[in-house]
Amino acid sequence: MLIPATPQTAAGAAPKVGFVSLGCPKALVDSEQILTQLRAEGYETAKSYDGADLVIVNTCGFIDAAVQESLDAIGEALAENGKVIVTGCLGAKKDASGEDIITKVHPKVLAVTGPHAVGEVMNSVHLHLPKPHDPFLDLVPAQGVKLTPKHYAYLKISEGCNHRCSFCIIPSMRGDLVSRPIAELMLEAENLFKAGVKELLVISQDTSAYGVDVKFRSGFWNGRPVKTHMTQLTEVLGQLAAQYGAWVRLHYVYPYPHVNDVIPLMSGGHVLPYLDVPLQHAHPEVLKRMKRPASGEKNLERIQQWRAMNPDLTIRSTFIAGFPGETEAEFEYLLDFLKEAQIDRLGCFAYSPVEGATANDLANPVPEDVREERRARVMLLQEEISAKRLQAKVGKTLRVLVDEVGGKEAIGRSAADAPEIDGVVHIRRSLVPGQGKKLAVGEFVDVTITKADAHDLWGTVTA
Ligand code: SF4
Repeated sequence: MLIPATPQTAAGAAPKVGFVSLGCPKALVDSEQILTQLRAEGYETAKSYDGADLVIVNTCGFIDAAVQESLDAIGEALAENGKVIVTGCLGAKKDASGEDIITKVHPKVLAVTGPHAVGEVMNSVHLHLPKPHDPFLDLVPAQGVKLTPKHYAYLKISEGCNHRCSFCIIPSMRGDLVSRPIAELMLEAENLFKAGVKELLVISQDTSAYGVDVKFRSGFWNGRPVKTHMTQLTEVLGQLAAQYGAWVRLHYVYPYPHVNDVIPLMSGGHVLPYLDVPLQHAHPEVLKRMKRPASGEKNLERIQQWRAMNPDLTIRSTFIAGFPGETEAEFEYLLDFLKEAQIDRLGCFAYSPVEGATANDLANPVPEDVREERRARVMLLQEEISAKRLQAKVGKTLRVLVDEVGGKEAIGRSAADAPEIDGVVHIRRSLVPGQGKKLAVGEFVDVTITKADAHDLWGTVTA
């Protein structure tokens, strides 16, 4: 049935959406929810196809006759109107060869979602028929309110955590993992890129676990199904970033085997060859006491494997020194691991008991002065490792994103440097060679590295 028109609003020029609702009562409820949301956002519903700015068809895929009826309705909407978004059960159905039924028959539809997908449908509507502007409600820009500089932004892909690390109280505060729908993330990413973001930093408590809570179900982006999974998310974010000449950087990645599938995505220049992997320790017994995710993984082998796949990979990690029960031998095991692993960027904290953390009840707490002393030993070793690794960059030309421009020097970051936590690239002379104009914040430049210390690099813009 074609939903009748809403009464005219005072605005008059509000965008109009035609709505065809097919199928069972559950589908009808989905339709009601979508229509409610459309109305709440100021859209009108149109009484005929040609009076509508786009048409949503809510389909049924239960029996063959229903499939045919749905395909016919989509065909009619395409012929009459041309701009069609499809939702409902048929959207989730594939044919015998595994292809999506709808896009095979009607490749021109703008987007396809499965059932119960109000958010995804609304994201598609926003994309193809922007929301009416309401000066009283729309105080927030499309990309949301951001506290970061205009040229980089964080994309939080999930909330909460399914792990129970003994030193951490996050799960008791934020609950178990809840992954955000992939279409919602992609729309947010697109809005950020459109607003001028040049570097998107993917964050969560456990990026590798993205989608576990929803059994990696498929969402839809640009009319094609995309799994709620770290690998697929990274892939589509990389493709989107490529359209805007931007970077994507991954944080909080636990070393599970599927991370191996992400490394090849880093060779295109948009998903950065950078992994922030919070390892916290190396000794298996300490990791067990910490109840760390992926504690059974052979982290050293995995790091070596990743580096063999992409020699430009930068690995950042954090460690805790002086965890309860940590013996001198266990600590030295950690130092040996660090010598082998040659982590590029490293932070080390002396264990600090957080109120409510179960680790506080573990036997043999390490005295505070020993914790501090061990932290200092890790940092001393890391300084040596970092200086050597940064020295190897002298003479190379790196792509750098400019963060600040001063009178004589600009400051930027290469693929190896996340904002706030890693080092920077000092760019001597803040002028674009041969042009006499100043570098601009948010601009990419190629910098030839001339000097390094244990944290930062120095160089000049390549002419
Ligand atoms: S430290 Fe452990 S429990 Fe806490 S958020 Fe990270 S993975 Fe989850």
